[in-house]
Amino acid sequence: MIFNLPMYKKFISMHSVVDNTQGNIQAIAFVTTFLESIGFDIRMVAEGDTEQPTIIANYPGRLSDNKIVLYGHYDVAPVNLQACWGSEDPFALEKINGRLYGRGIADNKGPLLARMLALQALVLSGNPIPTIMWLIQGEEEITQGDRVAQYVFENEIPAFGAKVYIEETGFNDLDTDTQISFLWSPNLTASQLVSWHELLQMSLDGPRIEYRHLNKLNGIEACPLLSNLPKDAVYMGFGPNDRLHFIHQDNESLDEGKLSKHQHQFETFLMNYALYNHAS
Ligand SMILES: [Zn+2]
Repeated sequence: MIFNLPMYKKFISMHSVVDNTQGNIQAIAFVTTFLESIGFDIRMVAEGDTEQPTIIANYPGRLSDNKIVLYGHYDVAPVNLQACWGSEDPFALEKINGRLYGRGIADNKGPLLARMLALQALVLSGNPIPTIMWLIQGEEEITQGDRVAQYVFENEIPAFGAKVYIEETGFNDLDTDTQISFLWSPNLTASQLVSWHELLQMSLDGPRIEYRHLNKLNGIEACPLLSNLPKDAVYMGFGPNDRLHFIHQDNESLDEGKLSKHQHQFETFLMNYALYNHAS
């Protein structure tokens, strides 16, 4: 598998920040055109005068009866006026000592694009694919007022009826060089979720499974995924981030090797999930 650096550069170069009409139009077109080209059906929902609609992308599935919801967002945090980046332009992705620096690479454009490329590879492979609903919102970095994603997720999630929900990214422990996987549910206990360990073990790299969810800067209520999970939902989070990612700050970055690995793991995970027959 070749790491597609030019595509990451292109996606990062689009200024999909609040009030940037052109940047949002470009990022939305980038995501929707790509997903349509590999067989996704696209809908978009906006409310009021927002330029950052929620994208609802559905894939019909192949050789599988399992359903899954994926979460992500195409908007990025604004850059401070007195920004102190190592690079000239925070929107020009730059590789320094194995890490990629650019606004949005860690939150959430890097993981999002890695997953888009994983899906493309999976579609081309002919392997089984679950039925997918991918909810990609555009107002994740907006903390005030109503966001259309809340309403969209509230309606779409129960109607789709998936068991498993995948967070926008996940973490790696740099000190122990261990991949972490979150496994959580609003109502199911850690012991009730044990039947899902095998799926994570066979898809990831010897992960440390933690019974919790990704930390949310503005709390669970502000996250349209976490706040709209069904009571018996199985929530999982894994991805390329680590404590050096500096999301929302200057010098946001990701390890290129971990990003590339995530693409491969995501493809494997979806194929394994398509065939997974969990015990309980
Ligand atoms: Zn995010």
